[in-house]
Amino acid sequence: MAIKRLLIANRGEIALRIHRAAHEMGIETVAVHSTADADAMHVRLADHAVCIGPAAAKDSYLNVAAIISAAEITNADAIHPGYGFLSENARFAEIVESHGIKWVGPKPEHIRTMGDKVEAKRTAGALGLPLVPGSDGAIEDFDVARALAQEIGYPVIIKAASGGGGRGMKVVNGPEELESQMGQARSEAAAAFGDATVYMEKYLGNPRHIEFQVFGDGEGNAVHLGERDCSLQRRHQKVLEEAPSPVITPEERDRMGGIVSKAMADMGYRGAGTIEFLWENGEFYFIEMNTRLQVEHPVTEAITGVDLVREQIRIADGQPLSFTQDAIEFKGHAIECRINAEDPWNFTPSPGKVSNYHAAGGMNVRVDSGLYAGYSIPPYYDSMIGKLIVSGRSRAGAIMRLKRALGEMVIEGPKTSIPLHQALVEDPEFNEGAYTIKWLEEWLAKRAAKDAG
Ligand code: ADP
Repeated sequence: MAIKRLLIANRGEIALRIHRAAHEMGIETVAVHSTADADAMHVRLADHAVCIGPAAAKDSYLNVAAIISAAEITNADAIHPGYGFLSENARFAEIVESHGIKWVGPKPEHIRTMGDKVEAKRTAGALGLPLVPGSDGAIEDFDVARALAQEIGYPVIIKAASGGGGRGMKVVNGPEELESQMGQARSEAAAAFGDATVYMEKYLGNPRHIEFQVFGDGEGNAVHLGERDCSLQRRHQKVLEEAPSPVITPEERDRMGGIVSKAMADMGYRGAGTIEFLWENGEFYFIEMNTRLQVEHPVTEAITGVDLVREQIRIADGQPLSFTQDAIEFKGHAIECRINAEDPWNFTPSPGKVSNYHAAGGMNVRVDSGLYAGYSIPPYYDSMIGKLIVSGRSRAGAIMRLKRALGEMVIEGPKTSIPLHQALVEDPEFNEGAYTIKWLEEWLAKRAAKDAG
């Protein structure tokens, strides 16, 4: 039976994004929200709204019982989890399905496998994806770790098997640091993720972060929608993303895209997924797979014309993929700026009332945000309050449009990261596309030093 009413188990811009896709498909929406989000735009626009608990995410957006009850009460026949919160919680996916509600996401067993990064690497290796050299599974023992680090060569990075959001990683520069860094990684992982399991990888010197968007129908058919370059990061968190990557040729895209889509087909993967790689000296190294929609999915939509959320909902509804690989054409260039409510230079959060708001517009400009004048940004959640996405026929054209659109954005009240993006797009190296995952932090440090001097 076709989906008629979709519950959106999320908040902010992504809840709005999903609402929009659903409405364009003639599907009613149910918003769930915490008491702190009663006035949020996703709640205002949805056809039905249910308050599921107090402000703290653990009592509302992570409250499985409250969300399932909301779906039952409103007769929702599907749940879309967005990103973050419960989106990569395999148990939640199982509970949703066991209630006869369609889960807009991958099969629970694939969420589980890819959510454990040690298992994910093993699976990726077996599927023929190139891996970062490192431990063959978890490492427990210092002596084993020391021997392995010697073999692959310092620096190495210790990563939490259950890690995410750029947390739970420690770089080790030499044998003298190994015990303390590994110990710290384990205790941080235990505290943050309730799992002290860690593994080791070679720490690549200066790679780019390049990820492929994939889609599977769960029946052995899969396609890829090209890559996104997410190398501009601060503390391992993405700041600005673009598609295509300035360094990937069409031949390389076809070759790597073929490898990832074959892997997904062999796995029987269902729905949207992202396969993340580090890229250095022309080589790809798998680091992880995200079994959900990504924040940066609009840059892929801009260059392919495919509505990724619509496609997710169709697949959850048991429909076939709406396109074949041959039908996908990559046109032009797109860039996304993440807009956070924070000080643009020291990154301290800046929630509070938005006294005035105006979104940029015009050709090939998209603003995904739940902001409006008079809205009060609650202090309880992630500081990302919106995304500005622009596209153009060339990268240079997209950058010109981005400068114009950033200049049009008005968000008065809280501080935002818009001035950071405005400075970034003026930088000659950014304009050449000559950056790696370390570049932004070095650029910020140089700026800070200049300001201090
Ligand atoms: P998370 O799930 O926390 O996002 P990832 O494994 O995706 O963790 O890594 C996040 C970021 O950390 C990468 O984009 C990259 O900047 C850095 N990183 C991860 N692994 C390595 C590595 N082996 N060498 C160098 N940098 C790495």
